[in-house]
Amino acid sequence: MKKYLSRQIIMFSCLLLTLSASSQNFERLRSDMVQNQIRSRGITDAETLKAMSTVPRHLYVPASQQRWAYDDRPLPIGHGQTISQPYIVAYMTEIIKPKKDFKVLEIGTGSGYQAAVLAEIVEEVYTIEIIEALGETARGVLLENYDNVHVKIADGYYGWEEHGPFDAIVVTAAAEYIPPPLIEQLKDGGRMIIPVGSPFRIQQLMLVEKKGERISTRSLMPVRFVPFTSGN
Ligand code: SAH
Repeated sequence: MKKYLSRQIIMFSCLLLTLSASSQNFERLRSDMVQNQIRSRGITDAETLKAMSTVPRHLYVPASQQRWAYDDRPLPIGHGQTISQPYIVAYMTEIIKPKKDFKVLEIGTGSGYQAAVLAEIVEEVYTIEIIEALGETARGVLLENYDNVHVKIADGYYGWEEHGPFDAIVVTAAAEYIPPPLIEQLKDGGRMIIPVGSPFRIQQLMLVEKKGERISTRSLMPVRFVPFTSGN
């Protein structure tokens, strides 16, 4: 009995050691990611860098993908969708100039990772996902970690009117054109970042700014996002 117990204790200690070694490993990978993929490419916003250093990206990808979670590329998350490359998440976060008191709408929850990064910085995050299974999985992990994220399963084309207008809108699927309801739900002085273009082709990441009645748009860089699928 004694022997059995000590064997159990040794096995348990080994398990704990392995778990803590792998979480330290993820921490190191994450800090390398921030240094080599994000800072080195010119992201300077302190809050964005802090959030990217904090959110455990490996918890937002399927178990089979975890070992690549901090690689410099998008990864599959099931249902034909992807979690964006870390640099793109950082870029889209920095460009909306997030502030503590912001209310942000995200279209395309996917893994929930971009929502988590935003939730580290701003007061409230509203995020919409059209694929139920993805939305439910993301809701689970987000609610375990944040009380300022609200997930809805719906077509994001229409935004989330009851909670608008928003200080910023982040769209993470490529639309053929900018959905008018999203422009409407942007605050005066607000910013929206959205990939625009044909699905499965190179699209343009666009910054949309609303100043009174004036809407200005600017192309920032070529990107490749999964398509915005809408009833429209
Ligand atoms: N921000 C996500 C990226 C996910 S990829 C992340 O951090 O992981 C884009 C997501 O947009 C996909 O999950 C896709 O299902 C979703 N999507 C596409 N069209 C949509 C729409 N009309 N409304 C809401 N979500 C949509």
